[in-house]
Amino acid sequence: MNHPLYITNSLSRQREQFIPLNPPFVGLYVCGPTVYGEAHLGHARPYITFDVVSRYLTYLGYKVRYVRNITDVGHLVDDADEGEDKIAKKARLEKLEPMEVVELYTTSFHDSMRALNNKPPGIEPRASGHIIEQIEMIKKIIDNGYAYESNGSVYFDVITYSKSNDYGKLSGRVIEELIAGAGSERRELEGQEEKRNPADFALWKKASPEHIMRWPSPWSDGFPGWHIECSAMSKKYLGETFDIHGGGMDLLFPHHESEIAQSKGSCGHAPVRYWMHNNMITINGQKMGKSLGNFITLQELFTGEHKLLQQAYSPMTIRFFILTAHYRSTLDFSNEGLQAAEKGMNRLMSAIELLPDLKPSASSSSDVKTIRQKSFDALNDDMNTAIAISQLFEGARIINSVNGGTETLTADDIAHLGETMRLFVFDILGMKSEVKGNNDDLKEVMELLLTLRAEAKAKKDFATSDKIRDELTRLNFVIKDGKEGTTWSKS
Ligand code: ZN
Repeated sequence: MNHPLYITNSLSRQREQFIPLNPPFVGLYVCGPTVYGEAHLGHARPYITFDVVSRYLTYLGYKVRYVRNITDVGHLVDDADEGEDKIAKKARLEKLEPMEVVELYTTSFHDSMRALNNKPPGIEPRASGHIIEQIEMIKKIIDNGYAYESNGSVYFDVITYSKSNDYGKLSGRVIEELIAGAGSERRELEGQEEKRNPADFALWKKASPEHIMRWPSPWSDGFPGWHIECSAMSKKYLGETFDIHGGGMDLLFPHHESEIAQSKGSCGHAPVRYWMHNNMITINGQKMGKSLGNFITLQELFTGEHKLLQQAYSPMTIRFFILTAHYRSTLDFSNEGLQAAEKGMNRLMSAIELLPDLKPSASSSSDVKTIRQKSFDALNDDMNTAIAISQLFEGARIINSVNGGTETLTADDIAHLGETMRLFVFDILGMKSEVKGNNDDLKEVMELLLTLRAEAKAKKDFATSDKIRDELTRLNFVIKDGKEGTTWSKS
């Protein structure tokens, strides 16, 4: 095995050697999307980051159980437990059932994740499907004295909990400040008077009469808080303590801080051994936000239909761009940055395509074995994909030089370098080759060819239909006949 893997644990703020609780199993939980709108740029970074973490752990020989939830209830417009449920609000505006909103945006989220070549998680639990588990956890927290009921809602008692626990440790908040002033500007908001302290957070909310998403509970007909769902679902599928919890840095407080408090408050010990947080994306130096006019959905990026975009950017360009930065660094989206990423990605992919044509020599002018080792070293050093990619660029440079006749490699070294490049680019970083050229033109031509093939088949002219398929296969197209007709892709 290679050198050990080190990751930065947000809880200790240190690089720590990763040692799983029950090897070869690794439990990985990542907070999923609240499905009330199209997947956007902000979704790309965490899910690509943790897809690569999951791929790399799998490559290292671990059996990864990757759980990523769908938040389909309980995430309120205002983080201080007030305002409408995000999904209920969208449903009201669009005149849809809340579950129609959930289905619509869950499907669209999955489409975007597939386009970005993120593997689906092993389990994708929905909050609304785990109400019983959440109620059970809330009961335990109340029994242990860390939560109280108030007017049909249940709140976590941060002051009592803090007497024997360090609430605020993960996010670096000072508990005295939270108790004294946190959310003081919100104190006038309706419902805040139910809390003993403004730092307390909701575990269960009593539903108002017009609220559609509601379930019976010992306290009221209502719905769970946003934080409790992740605690309940991670415990159900990964156990009371599991290996890695991931998410964006914006979730450190209050979401992840509250997850720790809920788990300790219900079962007495910390839920997570390694907390990993990816940094945020800015757009031309600004935070992304609907009010700033720089809110870009993934579909808009893929089609180029947004006033800030000079062109369309393919899903793999987005993926590559995100991986060229270390996940804990900030990353600024700009047309220049994306275009540079597109060029870089094409350079790597073209070099890989050249590999089968390289002419071996009797000796090698470069030591290609260091590329593989340095790429592993980079990933073992807190998943540094940026440095791994710089090593792959060195590999591409050597391939181009050998192809141009200015450097030499033995047959063994060509094979070794090829294996390294494919392993990192495709398997670990999760890139895939995209069809070059004008995609729309190609689609039309392919449709025409497949129609001709279907017509030939219908006339039992199998010589022609087989010839079309075989020739396309020879050109690296994968043709699949299915129930819904014939589909194609480029291998
Ligand atoms: Zn969560």
